[in-house]
Amino acid sequence: MKTRSYLTAIILIVLAPLLALSAWGLHLLLEDEREARLAGVAEKARSIALSIDQELAAAEGALRVIAQTEPMRREDFAPVYDLMRKTITSADSWGVLYDADGRMLMHTHHPYGTQFNEGPNPWVLDAIARHRASVSDLRDGRAGKSKVVSVQMPVTTAEGRQFLITHTFHVSHITKLLLRKDLPHSWVIGVFGTDGVTLARNLRENEFIGKPVKPKLYEAARRNASGRIPNVTREGIEAYTSFTHTSRAAWTVAIASPMDEINSPARTATALAALVLVAALAFAAAGIILFARRITGSTRLTLAAAKTLEVGGIPEVRPSGVVEADLLQRALNEAGAKLARENEARRALERERETLLASERDARREAENQNRTKDEFLAMLAHELRNPLAPIAAAAHTLALGVKNENVVRRASEVIVRQVDHLKSLINDLLDVSRVTRGLVEIEKEPVEVAAVVASAVEQAQPLMLAHRHTLSVRADAPQARVLGDRTRLIQVLSNLLNNAAKYTPDGGAIALEVELREGEAVISVRDNGIGIDSELMPHVFDLFRQAKRTSERAQGGLGLGLALVRSIVSLHGGRVEGHSEGPGKGSCFVLHLPLLAGEAQQPAAVPALAHGLVPPVRLMIVDDNLDAARALASLLEAKGHRVSVLPDAPSALERSAQEAYALYILDIGLPGMDGYELARRLRAMPGAGEAVLVALTGYGQTHDIDKAFAAGFDHHFVKPIDVEALDRILAKAASRAILVAAAPI
Ligand code: ADP
Repeated sequence: MKTRSYLTAIILIVLAPLLALSAWGLHLLLEDEREARLAGVAEKARSIALSIDQELAAAEGALRVIAQTEPMRREDFAPVYDLMRKTITSADSWGVLYDADGRMLMHTHHPYGTQFNEGPNPWVLDAIARHRASVSDLRDGRAGKSKVVSVQMPVTTAEGRQFLITHTFHVSHITKLLLRKDLPHSWVIGVFGTDGVTLARNLRENEFIGKPVKPKLYEAARRNASGRIPNVTREGIEAYTSFTHTSRAAWTVAIASPMDEINSPARTATALAALVLVAALAFAAAGIILFARRITGSTRLTLAAAKTLEVGGIPEVRPSGVVEADLLQRALNEAGAKLARENEARRALERERETLLASERDARREAENQNRTKDEFLAMLAHELRNPLAPIAAAAHTLALGVKNENVVRRASEVIVRQVDHLKSLINDLLDVSRVTRGLVEIEKEPVEVAAVVASAVEQAQPLMLAHRHTLSVRADAPQARVLGDRTRLIQVLSNLLNNAAKYTPDGGAIALEVELREGEAVISVRDNGIGIDSELMPHVFDLFRQAKRTSERAQGGLGLGLALVRSIVSLHGGRVEGHSEGPGKGSCFVLHLPLLAGEAQQPAAVPALAHGLVPPVRLMIVDDNLDAARALASLLEAKGHRVSVLPDAPSALERSAQEAYALYILDIGLPGMDGYELARRLRAMPGAGEAVLVALTGYGQTHDIDKAFAAGFDHHFVKPIDVEALDRILAKAASRAILVAAAPI
């Protein structure tokens, strides 16, 4: 059943008894009202009856007085006549004297002595026979012209004769009595005699006087002293007819009051009550609709909230105007919020578990990878260690044969020494990496010039580059920049990168080394156009033992330790290293970031001569039979913008000097054939080169060596490795007077 129906039922249950009760009450009230009105009517009837009685009583009283007067007793009618005239004054009533035969003897409307020739009136005999005063019913007047009633008094004279004196009223007199009462015009008031014939009427009296009343009324009046009957008047109006009797004449006074009039207040009250009822019902219906809407609306909102909860949402609280529904909504909202929190917590737990699972999976995969890498490494280590053993074994066997040939013995010994050196370096690498990666190595930091590190690293990598006929270009924007670090370790790092570039680049490749200063860091990059690194290996390239698959291109591979070492050492310096490659065959680039010495970055112009413009480019020559070393130094100097020629011996140097002018010469002393001293002397003697700055570079640094050098014409003397900063100063000085290089491309 719908809420609306329930509400209707409630209203009806409450209203029905109320309505019944008020209807009953109203009915009682209306009955009372009706009864009161009818009682009023009856009262009026009694009042009229009383008026008639008074009139008749007065007439009877007067007649009684006349009857007892002396003239009457003596039958002296003249004074009786006068008395009658005096007592009966109204125009529509008169006095008459009859004799015992019923003959009229005198009439107050006629002069005394008038002879009346009318026959006897039989009713007179009846009236005399009663021996007391009586009132007649309606009868015809003289000659039947009018309708009259009379009060009649029999008189017995002294002679014993009987007479009748009457006070006769024209019926209009009675009617006047009725009209004298101020009664509603709608009422029909009638008076009828004991014979049921109407003798007075307030309406249409001419029509109805002398006619019998309705038998129903007559019967009721005959049976009861007073009463009321429903009736239809002669005018055809439905009415309540109240009747009562006059006491002297036993006439009946009847008043017909229209039912409409009596019932109209009842009807009005009923209509009003019905109106009130309808209004109450309308209010109730409106209330039902309103409340039903409220209740169904709140139910709908609660239902929507429950649905939201069902799908895991947090239901909103939307005020519905129904407190209980709002409370329910609030409870649903709180339940939703709680569920959401629990769901969120559960999801977070699930996420955490998944993350844990994933990281555990990753860790396991990584462990497996490391294990596999370790196995591969062990296999490779065995291979790498076994490699030198074959030539050593062969050389040892050769020696064991006791061969006397000096050359053979020397070569076998050299092989053994070289291979043992190789084995030593492998083992050193291994130990080194193990100590560094375990954090057992402490680096001793001091300010180190990046350019010096670059020069030394280039020098170390030079042989491999030469062997592969690679072109190395070096560009250093800020060769004066310094970092705080361990010079040897930094050289090891950079040479490692250069060696890798040389190893993993097919012969004749191009390798570029660049140094630039960026945001407080020295950024050193080593780029090659070699075999490149695929994206799978790249993220792991700095891990221990990680290598690409060995192929003929990668035959040079080491033990996979180098980059791990690089990363550890660089991080010990507070720096970092990155590797980039666009993929196999597309070359690689490794970039070192080292924090500059505090204040260096902000004061790049501290050594203006060495700033970006560098030392003005100088054309110079290096003469050294150790071409690797010479080229490395040349690369460094070229990186600084100088134009460098490298020559292996004195004759070729002299020859070149004859063709070109050089501002500075760096000469190795221990040259084959003509040594450095001699070369210096010859150069000094040459017209073009005589002004040049001569720098001796030697492994011998004792005083007499230095003296010997200066004696030979050298301006400066350096013990290997060369002090780059000092050399820069010499170059700067030389630049002021020397032959400059117009443009010094690297
Ligand atoms: P190793 O060179 O002894 O194998 P590294 O740790 O120096 O060990 O290098 C790890 C691996 O990274 C190398 O085996 C090689 O596969 C790859 N790699 C390093 N540098 C380069 C480069 N410049 N070009 C291509 N591959 C390189």
